[in-house]
Amino acid sequence: MPKSYDAIVIGGGIIGCAIAYEMAKSGKSVACIEKNAASGAGSTCNSCAIIRTHYSTLNGAALAKSNYPYWEDWAGYLQAEEGEILATYREVGCLYTCFEHNNYGLKLEQIANEIDIPYEVWTPAKMRAKLPIIDPGHFHPAKAADDPKFGSQDGEMRYVLFFPKAGFINDPLLATQNIQSAAERHGAAFHMGKRVVSIEQKNGRVSGVTLDSGETLEAPVVVNASGPHSYKINEMAGVADGMNIKTKALRVEVAHVPSPDGFDFEKDGYICSDADIGGYWRPEIGNKILVGSEEPECDPLEWVDPDDYNTGVTEQARLQAMRGAQRFPSMGIPNNVQGIADLYDASDDWIPIYDCSDLPGFYMAVGTSGNQFKNAPVVGMIMNALVDHVEGGNDHDKNPMKFPLPNLDFTLDMAFCSRIREINRESSFSVVG
Ligand SMILES: Cc1cc2nc3c(=O)[nH]c(=O)nc-3n(C[C@H](O)[C@H](O)[C@H](O)COP(=O)(O)OP(=O)(O)OC[C@H]3O[C@@H](n4cnc5c(N)ncnc54)[C@H](O)[C@@H]3O)c2cc1C
Repeated sequence: MPKSYDAIVIGGGIIGCAIAYEMAKSGKSVACIEKNAASGAGSTCNSCAIIRTHYSTLNGAALAKSNYPYWEDWAGYLQAEEGEILATYREVGCLYTCFEHNNYGLKLEQIANEIDIPYEVWTPAKMRAKLPIIDPGHFHPAKAADDPKFGSQDGEMRYVLFFPKAGFINDPLLATQNIQSAAERHGAAFHMGKRVVSIEQKNGRVSGVTLDSGETLEAPVVVNASGPHSYKINEMAGVADGMNIKTKALRVEVAHVPSPDGFDFEKDGYICSDADIGGYWRPEIGNKILVGSEEPECDPLEWVDPDDYNTGVTEQARLQAMRGAQRFPSMGIPNNVQGIADLYDASDDWIPIYDCSDLPGFYMAVGTSGNQFKNAPVVGMIMNALVDHVEGGNDHDKNPMKFPLPNLDFTLDMAFCSRIREINRESSFSVVG
């Protein structure tokens, strides 16, 4: 007899685990299938795990703000057990560089004012006072490493925005496993080391999945939360053609560079969304500065097959370290730049897809585009509510579900995350979302 559940979630990353947690809490019997040996061992484990509330769209910022209290009270979100080892959140604050190309951050200020996100405006003098090793130069546009103009600056930035309610999670893998444990306490089943190889259908709707072990699991609801493999699972289910917004796997690198001698960046550093240099940076454990990319125009995007790509760091990480050294001139660049290479599940407009599909019973939480770690708790709630909404007979494509976001007075029109939306031109078209 095949095992049967109310719902199956494909993928045990932070998104899949959060969905399984909410489904289990609401009384559904749910199984989460993960091809790796442990949850969170996909792209989540290499996440920079930055928690911030600034996004280029009002909806994006509201969703992030809604999640913030869960990171501040991680044990409360998990209903954690006494003595349980939990991931921890460090609030350090996040800067956002403002210059002509991003209209001096005006849109972000408007969004922050609209939904009460606290922020300050810092001048170059204040930047130096707060972070003495910083060069507040204006370097935009970002350049390739061999560009003779690399490192040249055009005066100083006028100002940056500082968002005090921002930080990072020390261990994204542990955070994911914390959610798995919380879900298991509510009865969710986790099948590790099992790969979904086909999506089963009966009478015009999804009926379960078959695993590489040959086993079939039955369920009237299947959720694709397979991260950078999302397009492969959508193709398996035959739902890709019905999507206006598609997803693809994008290879990215993040450099981990030692802090300048004599400065404790781990303790005294900030996070920064620094489009002026074409990247972002944050303090890293071990007194390091972590430097990622914000996809500047001069860097080609590296679309890959998620089952066949280079997992080692290359000259890209060195380039990012060089860009970081524009901000921190006393930061040495090691001969062998350390770091990580991993994948974003990027959507066409860098905004996620949290939706049903053309196959009844088949749902997707995909296209997380390098910026949805922070949103996992509420995405779990949204997907659980969406399943109830659609299985309850509502036509979500015609009348998209409206979801009242927890922790703020804002109702998210889920058309924002629809697979059949038009490209959202408000997006930054980068990891900023
Ligand atoms: C380098 C990097 C930095 C990032 N930085 C940030 C950040 O600072 N802040 C932020 O908010 N977000 C950030 N993100 C994005 C964030 O980490 C992702 O949006 C989030 O982790 C995606 O979670 P997921 O569960 O969808 O994907 P994943 O963690 O990739 O999980 C999907 C899982 O599905 C499994 N799977 C795939 N196919 C199958 C199959 N056929 N059968 C069974 N299992 C399958 C995979 O093994 C995988 O574990 C970053 C991402 C990367 C890569």
